[in-house]
Amino acid sequence: MSIDAERVRPAVLLNPLAGDPTDADSHIGGPMLWPIDDPWPHCDGAAHDPASGAEPFVGALQLYRRDYPELPFPEGTDLLQVFLCTVHHVLPSGSYGPDVELVWRDSTTVFELIEEEPEPSEQEELYVPTVNALEPIRFGEHEDKVSGGTKIGGWTAWSGPVEFACPDCGAAQRQTLSLATHEPSGEDVEWEFGDAGNLNVFTCPQDVRHPIAVYVD
Ligand SMILES: [Zn+2]
Ligand SMILES: [Zn+2]
Repeated sequence: MSIDAERVRPAVLLNPLAGDPTDADSHIGGPMLWPIDDPWPHCDGAAHDPASGAEPFVGALQLYRRDYPELPFPEGTDLLQVFLCTVHHVLPSGSYGPDVELVWRDSTTVFELIEEEPEPSEQEELYVPTVNALEPIRFGEHEDKVSGGTKIGGWTAWSGPVEFACPDCGAAQRQTLSLATHEPSGEDVEWEFGDAGNLNVFTCPQDVRHPIAVYVD
């Protein structure tokens, strides 16, 4: 591989467009495929009003392997579900943003679905997405020409070099998902991260279930 080729990474712009996706679809902001007998993820972060206790995460997006084979699905899983805790958290990077939780699921073992997704008692509107179907655009992303849209893979749209080490194994984490305030080709989903920036999710290349890093720029 040439030096220049190493500076090109595969990337997929999710390219959100208003739609009416179901739990069987990849989407942003639509219904999640969540089994009735699985506890819904909750955030017990210190960012919350202590009186309200643990708060449910909000289903932000889900991506099926058949649509996005580029994602690092662990063996036996075919669905990535991304949840946000939609109040301000101080992230480990020092910036503000929602808390993020990833669930890697085997959709073929889900039969009976949760009847109603729980809603948190308080939310920041700027972290809540509109409902969108996705029309992905695949491309090779050069380190010097980074797209600021919502995407899988690729490079991180920020000025300086930032690296995170996996707290479990020390491996250099890799950008897996970026959620964008503004879309270059699709429609904005009306969430905002930082100063009209991106929320970037980094995962461990050794094991995606190791703790993630979240960076808002
Ligand atoms: Zn929280
Ligand atoms: Zn690790």
